[in-house]
Amino acid sequence: MQKERICPICNWQGEKFLPNNLNFSHDESRRVSGECKCPICDSRPRHRAAMLLLQRLNLPQSNRRILHVAPEKFLFNYFNTKNPTDYQKIDKYIEQYPANTVSQMDLIDIQFPDNTFNFAFCSHVLEHIPDDKKAMSELFRVLAPKGIAVLMVPIYPIEKTADLYEKGPDSMGHVHQPGLDYFQRYRETGFAVDVYALDKFYDPEQYGLRIGWDKIAVCYKPKNKVTGLFRRLRHY
Ligand SMILES: [Zn+2]
Repeated sequence: MQKERICPICNWQGEKFLPNNLNFSHDESRRVSGECKCPICDSRPRHRAAMLLLQRLNLPQSNRRILHVAPEKFLFNYFNTKNPTDYQKIDKYIEQYPANTVSQMDLIDIQFPDNTFNFAFCSHVLEHIPDDKKAMSELFRVLAPKGIAVLMVPIYPIEKTADLYEKGPDSMGHVHQPGLDYFQRYRETGFAVDVYALDKFYDPEQYGLRIGWDKIAVCYKPKNKVTGLFRRLRHY
């Protein structure tokens, strides 16, 4: 019997997610013809993976200061249920959003003071930024000690990240193709990092998840240097 599909974002349950029909002419293996979009809220696999992880880890905690980069509408309601004391949404390109809802800001030059936020969410942005390490260090800077950044990039099925520095052949605007070693860049920035593969915890078919591509990094800014070292040792 076919399993019922569940969308953790809008709680839709039904027979099948809708296809997306992305046509990667340069890479047959990446063609998506199967189930992808939620028929009610239009969420994609990466959005559902993020929601499952945030709920599982109860992130962010209530009454925190939140920074949401390239903010996905799918997460607005969820973040607002956490009664944030501040909720800042930023993007380099703000034309796509309703007027005055998102602040125009470049991730390599975040216009907030050090140690401002308790929680940051940034998905499918870093792979578009040539100086992605600078963007990571900016996220690190604006997080308060013990702050948490949930960072997502598409993880290509390759060992070593390919830094292209010009748009890749699949026309997705990616200037990096993050491989399995990409998480090391977060560690080099100073974060202690846990990596979660949601397709290991949840039935990929039931929740419409992609296998392998949506590994999510939960990055902790250490309280101080000693704690940071301790956490890093614990996670290796
Ligand atoms: Zn949905």
